[in-house]
Amino acid sequence: MFYIGNHLSASKGYLAMGEMAVKLGANTFAFFTRNPRGGKAKAIDEKDVERYLDFAKKNKIGTLVAHAPYTMNLCAAKEEIRKFSIEMIADDLRRMEYTPGNYYNFHPGSHVGQGAEEGIRLIADALNQVLEEAKNTTVLLETMAGKGSEVGRSFEEIREIIDRVELADRLGVCFDTCHVWDGGYDIVGHLDDVLDEFDNVIGLERLKAVHFNDSMNTCGAHKDRHQKIGQGKIGAEAMRRVACHPALAGKPFILETPNDDAGYAAEIAQIKEWTKEGETV
Ligand code: FE
Ligand code: FE
Ligand code: ZN
Repeated sequence: MFYIGNHLSASKGYLAMGEMAVKLGANTFAFFTRNPRGGKAKAIDEKDVERYLDFAKKNKIGTLVAHAPYTMNLCAAKEEIRKFSIEMIADDLRRMEYTPGNYYNFHPGSHVGQGAEEGIRLIADALNQVLEEAKNTTVLLETMAGKGSEVGRSFEEIREIIDRVELADRLGVCFDTCHVWDGGYDIVGHLDDVLDEFDNVIGLERLKAVHFNDSMNTCGAHKDRHQKIGQGKIGAEAMRRVACHPALAGKPFILETPNDDAGYAAEIAQIKEWTKEGETV
């Protein structure tokens, strides 16, 4: 089964997201666990969750890929921001338990001048404080483009974080095609090599989800500007190869491309077409 969907607004709750996903031709989706700029999360509406779970079962919706807010920075230089971030992720993970079995994806953080090593140490330390809450949720570290002082710009940095975490069985990785490309991994010319490298450094069994985005910039640009599928520097042909790669089969693919609903529906239809062809090759 191929799972594809896009990032949806969470403002009307789970059932509304499920219905929207189906309307767009999707069978998974992503959403922010709270306002992406931070702030207090809306309380979970248990009735809505119940209705959603029923709807998801009937419509065969796969594993969801929730996204932490951008303001969360587990390796901020200021202690109060780190503390606030740890409270935020702990609260998000508790709320994820209402919809068990899904993924919670977050940006490892920005070390803001403290250096990657210190960033890695602080992120792992934070995870060691909160992962207890992820009883039925897998927490995904997103591969980053390396913009500014982002940690997670290489497979090695992600591996180093995982190595320092006690409950590492609750961790996985979200492979963002735009970020990996911008980070300097040539998924256009050498996709097999990049995935081999991922396997050698992190282990493919950790690769749980894909953020499926084209990029406005060249490989190694460290920019992080998403583009519509086939209209960026990665291009349609390379994106098709990613979608059809056997190492990524069965993982949820999430579009974070600059689109409206009609644009997402068109991309979803296109990717479904690709993967159908892929099955017969
Ligand atoms: Fe992200
Ligand atoms: Fe992403
Ligand atoms: Zn991005």
